[in-house]
Amino acid sequence: MKTIELIVPCYNEEECIGLFYKRICQVFQELPGFDFIITYIDDGSKDCTLEEIKKVVVSSNQGKVQYISLSRNFGKESAIYAGLSKCTGDYVALLDADLQHPPELLKQMIVAIEEEGYDCASARRVSRKGEPIIRSMFSKAFYHIINRITVMDLVPGSTDYRLMRRNVVEAIVSMTERERFTKGIYSWVGFKNKWIEYENVERVAGSTTWNFWGLLRYAYTGFIAFAATPLRGVVYFGMLIVLISILMAIYIGMGALKTANTERTGYASIMILMLFLGGVIITILGMIGEYMARIYMEVKNRPIYFARETNIGKETEDECRKDTPQK
Ligand code: UDP
Ligand code: MG
Repeated sequence: MKTIELIVPCYNEEECIGLFYKRICQVFQELPGFDFIITYIDDGSKDCTLEEIKKVVVSSNQGKVQYISLSRNFGKESAIYAGLSKCTGDYVALLDADLQHPPELLKQMIVAIEEEGYDCASARRVSRKGEPIIRSMFSKAFYHIINRITVMDLVPGSTDYRLMRRNVVEAIVSMTERERFTKGIYSWVGFKNKWIEYENVERVAGSTTWNFWGLLRYAYTGFIAFAATPLRGVVYFGMLIVLISILMAIYIGMGALKTANTERTGYASIMILMLFLGGVIITILGMIGEYMARIYMEVKNRPIYFARETNIGKETEDECRKDTPQK
């Protein structure tokens, strides 16, 4: 019997926790050869998510339910890392708590890994039904640009929803960078991946935590985390500006030699040049600062998350105690 461990990041998902467990039980009834472990990662929720999780732990009669509660909201990427670094299943799946990642797809994913020899299988949304048009537009532009300027090959519509063999999980966990752009990390570690397509599903309850600025920040992190191109591009741009100013200096110098015009003050050209170069320098400094900030964060080597509470390991202790004969 193989075990599939489901890692579920939860942030203010009190209504979804129970529904999620029920759906998983249904799905695994049709997967007789597999056992499941659900690892809920409570990402510092402010509602009753943790209480709901504990209720499921107590009332669960199928599979195993465990949780890690983080000390504050570290963000989905860190929550996923917390789950991955503690996981023990033969195969590991990442799913959202809101059931936007249909657990039924796990069957296809298992086939891909067990029978077709893939290392991981990832879900890809083919439609963006129920999503604002502007969000889809930005998303399209994001994938187009990031694929052009970085070493990564990101597939539009790709999600975090995936099933992986342990070797893939170990590769992901070994990447301990703090600014975690998970989509980029998946692409960077490589391995044989199969895309499984599905139609977009609306969340069962609650509301999304992503707003426009959040997504923009996410996209920005992606660029900075995986692209050296912006930095290099800016340097080239700076060099080009210097070249243009040299050519201009020669041109103006020659002109001044030819025509002895004493009334020309050169005020306008100097002002324009100053502003222009000032702007370029500030841009370059900004870019460098951006990378420096990232380096600073990495050098500080802070942990990616802190767990405040968990039942991982504890349960087995209780079971051990139960197993030892009472005198
Ligand atoms: N999530 C999290 N920490 C956060 C934000 C979100 O763990 O800071 C979880 C959330 O509970 C959900 C998943 O990440 O299970 C996806 O979030 P959401 O549904 O808000 O995003 P969307 O599906 O709209 O992209
Ligand atoms: Mg969602």
